[in-house]
Amino acid sequence: MQLSYKAPCSKLVNLENIWFQLSKVACNIKCKHCYLDCHQDTRKRNFLPAEKITDAFKLDLPNLRMVYLTGGEPFLHPKINEIIRFCLKKSDVTICTNGTLVNEKKIKVLKTIEAAFLHKICFKFSLDHYMEGRNDEYRGVGVFKKVVNAIKLANRYNIPFSIVCVNLKNEDETLVRKGFSELFQKLGIVYKEEYIKVIPLLKMGTYSKYYNISDKTNTVTYEDLIDFDMEILDCKTSRVISSDGIYSCPALVNDPRGRLGEKLEDSSRNVYLETQTCYDCVNRQDGLFG
Ligand code: SF4
Ligand code: SF4
Repeated sequence: MQLSYKAPCSKLVNLENIWFQLSKVACNIKCKHCYLDCHQDTRKRNFLPAEKITDAFKLDLPNLRMVYLTGGEPFLHPKINEIIRFCLKKSDVTICTNGTLVNEKKIKVLKTIEAAFLHKICFKFSLDHYMEGRNDEYRGVGVFKKVVNAIKLANRYNIPFSIVCVNLKNEDETLVRKGFSELFQKLGIVYKEEYIKVIPLLKMGTYSKYYNISDKTNTVTYEDLIDFDMEILDCKTSRVISSDGIYSCPALVNDPRGRLGEKLEDSSRNVYLETQTCYDCVNRQDGLFG
């Protein structure tokens, strides 16, 4: 459903990235700032049926570069190994995970699966601070240690990884990167700038409930787009396949304004940049997710 026809719009240029949202609600932790509204209730997990993935790949996808598996927490999906195997036939696969379920046994299983394909697996770990207390204040006690362990394992088993850091307190990005580089040094891992993606806090989902925030503040104007390189926006090259339809980007999977239709064929519909998140996206001059 399109709610407004006044906002500027973005259109898909090339479908290079497909995000499969394996569940909108299932997660094994409960972050205070979850941009969705995930919970640990085992009765309402609403997993993406594996057929949605096989159906998507029936289309010709000549520009596909990367498949992202996301959630919630993708490792909770009961068919995760089967899904990874299927996606690796078509593309490299990035698993976007909170890292707390990644242990040595799981890494060995992933390496075995990967060995049968030319395409590769990589990880995107969520870690919101290089200091344990600052991360765990929002993500839960004990989470930092588990993610650090997952990073060490990925490094040891040569699985490429990056870290998505939500800049919870709007700290200076240079200092955030310096903190991560020191953390990596302590872990004995060579630090590379591209390992860290710092993104702003998305004030939606659990966060907006917890802090009683309402969306409507700023919207993208046509003036904002003068001299702006639209190509950097994820919605130019990506689509999300979720249990209830196709969305323009991972940030808008719980927002009817991000929904484009039922099937991947609906991907080319206009994306109206009318949310606060679109405004943040455009004004930070960098893609949020890819
Ligand atoms: S932010 Fe990610 S890890 Fe945290 S509760 Fe939401 S889905 Fe789970
Ligand atoms: S949040 Fe960013 S990537 Fe998503 S639809 Fe809006 S402008 Fe595009």
